[in-house]
Amino acid sequence: MLPLSPQTRLPTHDVTNMPPHQGDQDLWSDDRALCETIEREGASWAADHLAAFGRIAGAAETFDEANDANRYPPELQAFDRYGQRIDQVAFHPGYHALMAKAIGNDVHSFAWRNADKPGAHVGHAALTYMFHQAEGGVMCPMAMAYSAWPSLKTTPSVADAWIPRLLSREYDRRDIPVEQKRGATVGMFMTEKQGGSDVRANSTRAEPLGLGTGIGAEYRLTGHKFFCSAPMCDAFLTLAYSEGGLSCFLVPRWRPDGERNGLYIQRLKDKLGNRSNASSEIEMLDTYGIMVGEEGRGIRTIIDMVQHNRYYCAASSAGLMRQSLVQALHHTSHRSAFQRRLIDQPLMRNVLADLALEAEAGLALTLRIGRAMDEAASDPMAAALARIGTAIAKFWVCKRTPGFVGEALECLGGPGYVEESLMPRFYREAPLNSIWEGSGNIMCLDVLRAMGREEAAVPAILAELEAARGGNAALDAAADMLRDELADQSDLETRARGVTELMAVSLQAAQLVQHAPAATADAFCASRLGGRWHGAYGALPPNSDFGAIIARATPGG
Ligand SMILES: Cc1cc2nc3c(=O)[nH]c(=O)nc-3n(C[C@H](O)[C@H](O)[C@H](O)COP(=O)(O)OP(=O)(O)OC[C@H]3O[C@@H](n4cnc5c(N)ncnc54)[C@H](O)[C@@H]3O)c2cc1C
Repeated sequence: MLPLSPQTRLPTHDVTNMPPHQGDQDLWSDDRALCETIEREGASWAADHLAAFGRIAGAAETFDEANDANRYPPELQAFDRYGQRIDQVAFHPGYHALMAKAIGNDVHSFAWRNADKPGAHVGHAALTYMFHQAEGGVMCPMAMAYSAWPSLKTTPSVADAWIPRLLSREYDRRDIPVEQKRGATVGMFMTEKQGGSDVRANSTRAEPLGLGTGIGAEYRLTGHKFFCSAPMCDAFLTLAYSEGGLSCFLVPRWRPDGERNGLYIQRLKDKLGNRSNASSEIEMLDTYGIMVGEEGRGIRTIIDMVQHNRYYCAASSAGLMRQSLVQALHHTSHRSAFQRRLIDQPLMRNVLADLALEAEAGLALTLRIGRAMDEAASDPMAAALARIGTAIAKFWVCKRTPGFVGEALECLGGPGYVEESLMPRFYREAPLNSIWEGSGNIMCLDVLRAMGREEAAVPAILAELEAARGGNAALDAAADMLRDELADQSDLETRARGVTELMAVSLQAAQLVQHAPAATADAFCASRLGGRWHGAYGALPPNSDFGAIIARATPGG
């Protein structure tokens, strides 16, 4: 046996009041709310897959890979040593390992592989929710593979070549023409310097390459894109103006003649978080692209993609809240102050219980909307709920996440502010889902748009609240208040955040009142819909059943 190092033997270095290493987590079995919600929303047939993946996503190895992939972020290799442009990005091996794990377990493709089954989007969201607990960066290309499917479907020649490779379980990272690849990934180029939310401000142009124009025809694109994440993808859905207006194109990394396409990575962004994921600026010069969808209907073509990406954001943020809570519960269970474990201190119990309510409510809303997506094809009310509910969930779940993660971080005290604790990485990741794919205001304006265009949108929301009527007086009052708010059309744009928030919290409450234990539902309604607004977490009414709420959220509890 090796002698102990002098440092290990230091008499002053007894570690008596620190949590043990967490080791492997089981993100499925240890998440009671997740297991119950999956059952209720129709994806219990996927339980075996979800259970197996919960252990993979929760493995200490996966968290280590995520830490490495973020600590050693991607590097641009624009040129080779002879000065030739190669436009490559080099990633840490941890990133590739995570990509292989995600793709190998259908994180990118589950909904479409199982499109014939009820609960396919619900199951997909559960995979997203679990994997995002370990890592957000690789989830960007996963979200795109999930979301691009409906856009690619519009153009059969493109769909035939790309969809089978997008559904593949093989992570094939080679930068070679797609015909030679066993699996492929896609990204998107929408945002330009002139406009992100307002993509009609784009200035990229597309001219026909040959005689043909319109859907499936070949074009030459010229312009720049200001935010291009995952630039090592094999192709990118791109918006550009052709003669007939703003159109959508698929721009592959390689041209059909076997030459590299004209995609010039100018630089990688130095981002707040999401650092394992390369986000770049790209110049397009005489760049080859195929028109996807009808000419001049680019926004129509990408709208389903945008909708699915927004749904992915809600599921991801719900996951980030859940893992932040798990970290807070772990730490406070093993740390004592003033001769008592933190988790036993009344005020800390209030904070932890409040966080647990928020995490479960975020998950419940997200998976309820997932079921609406699953039922949309056969049920107009479900379709309307999916349409408006995605914007509501994206706004609210993502909006709640940064404050939530900050509060969970604080539960760890000083160590929470230190990188090894995971919390700083989560904290930096937390605001992102609220920004991309439509920032908060854009989501609220989208809620108004859905209300204006879809006759069934408001009735679908109200029906959800009516289903819970009688279960909680505060929720009933909120439903009545929402009805009054919606009847008043004045200044609706100015009031859009308030209205969307009321919809979101009422929908969450309706789910909890119908399906969660009374302790959870009562405390949620009392704190979120009761008379007194509380700005901070940890201000639940003293008669809340803190023990029951915390036990429900605690892994293995
Ligand atoms: C890490 C990262 C990666 C990204 N990756 C990609 C990518 O791969 N591909 C891609 O195409 N894009 C990508 N984006 C871009 C992202 O989608 C946009 O930044 C986002 O949509 C917002 O657009 P913008 O930055 O132009 O902000 P703006 O449109 O200028 O908006 C600024 C603010 O104004 C608000 N606002 C806008 N219009 C209104 C209005 N009418 N009323 C009230 N408020 C309004 C917005 O909500 C926002 O808060 C990425 C962004 C980030 C941060």
